[in-house]
Amino acid sequence: MSSPSSAAVTAPPVVEAACAACPHPAAGHDPIGRRFCAATLDSSIARGCICR
Ligand SMILES: [Zn+2]
Ligand SMILES: [Zn+2]
Repeated sequence: MSSPSSAAVTAPPVVEAACAACPHPAAGHDPIGRRFCAATLDSSIARGCICR
C-alpha cells in the first residue's frame, strides 16, 4: 500500500506581465517601447504607445 506520489502539481497560471502604460504585454516591448511606456507612467500622461 504505497501511495504513489502524484506529480500532478497544479502549476500556477502564467500571468502575462502586462505593461502599466499600455494594454500590451511587457514581453512584446522593445527597449525603446519600455522606455517610452516608463516615461508615460512617469509623466502620467496618455499618449498611447509605440509598441504596436
Ligand atoms: Zn507599454
Ligand atoms: Zn504598448
